[in-house]
Amino acid sequence: MKVAIIGSGIIGSAIAFHLASLGMRVEVWETQTQPGLGSTGAALGFLLGVASAKTSGRIVRLRLDSLKLYDTWLPELEKLTGRRVLLHQGIVCLPRDGHLWRELAQVRAKQGYSLEPVVIGQYQGFYSPTDRVVHPLELVSALVEAATQRGAKFHWGCAWEQGREADSDRVVVCGGLGSQALVELPLQAVGGQAIEVAVAADPHLPALHIVDELGDVNLVPLGGGRYWIGATVEFDPTVLPRAENVTYLLGRVGQYFPQFQESTVLNTWANYRPRPIGRGAPVIEWCRPGWLVASGHYRNGLLLAPITAQIVGEMLINSTTATSINKS
Ligand SMILES: Cc1cc2nc3c(=O)[nH]c(=O)nc-3n(C[C@H](O)[C@H](O)[C@H](O)COP(=O)(O)OP(=O)(O)OC[C@H]3O[C@@H](n4cnc5c(N)ncnc54)[C@H](O)[C@@H]3O)c2cc1C
Repeated sequence: MKVAIIGSGIIGSAIAFHLASLGMRVEVWETQTQPGLGSTGAALGFLLGVASAKTSGRIVRLRLDSLKLYDTWLPELEKLTGRRVLLHQGIVCLPRDGHLWRELAQVRAKQGYSLEPVVIGQYQGFYSPTDRVVHPLELVSALVEAATQRGAKFHWGCAWEQGREADSDRVVVCGGLGSQALVELPLQAVGGQAIEVAVAADPHLPALHIVDELGDVNLVPLGGGRYWIGATVEFDPTVLPRAENVTYLLGRVGQYFPQFQESTVLNTWANYRPRPIGRGAPVIEWCRPGWLVASGHYRNGLLLAPITAQIVGEMLINSTTATSINKS
């Protein structure tokens, strides 16, 4: 089967890798000249399935199944490409409401996952050995390299124009926010900003997911006192990045670890998450004969990339008896 993929963010690249591994003939069209310059490049790389407050439902199943797929994806990708994709195995969650999290730990134990009580500084936290942090750009680059090794062809700097006909058997639309210009999928752009800082008095923190009444803050140690901190969730974003967001993020972490109030800001960046309007994330479905859409992954595109690729693979295989778009 010949498959055209539109978009080489984390979703399109993961699908390209998986379909090429299944022996399909894959071609990817990407507007940008390199992978991961959309939402993916702005992400902090948290793969949070276990240390996440929701306990049941479709999204929880997708998260936990995708985390499991990473058990094989990460070593395979690192071996195939020599890239160091995994930044941290295991993360610590610092919740304001410890009682709620003790209950969550019991639910997760029944589901086969562990959340162990741990103390970080003066705070009670929960260690999740299963959750991880990856380097988003290394991950997407590794997927592109590995897909290429398995025969996928990437067309960089080539936008798929609206109304263009496909010369493949199937098309998978993975344009992130750009998907709505190609197929009927209303999406909202939800802004997010992150920073990289250097802390002189390094408190040597683990990868941290802080959850309190002001929302979530994620912190990724990079070594040598450097950290990524993010991300804001802006439903009504104006122009990003904004100077006040830098102050906000430093203040949020500084509340817990005062060393961050004295840190040097090395970089700040921002982008927009694709959030489906009026329905849950993500959207993986047939949208017209021979065309699948896999978009709208909102805040969890990195986490959900392997399970999305697996679902798309199954949908394509099960559709082999359906009419080819070339004939429809
Ligand atoms: C600040 C921030 C922090 C985040 N942190 C995390 C995190 O820690 N963990 C997590 O799991 N998720 C995180 N996310 C969310 C995650 O980044 C997104 O869910 C994910 O990147 C969406 O991936 P995508 O491939 O669908 O979209 P994108 O990465 O935007 O990729 C879509 C690609 O399609 C291309 N494209 C669009 N239209 C066309 C066209 N017509 N022709 C050709 N190419 C086209 C675009 O150029 C782009 O490269 C974060 C997001 C932000 C903004």
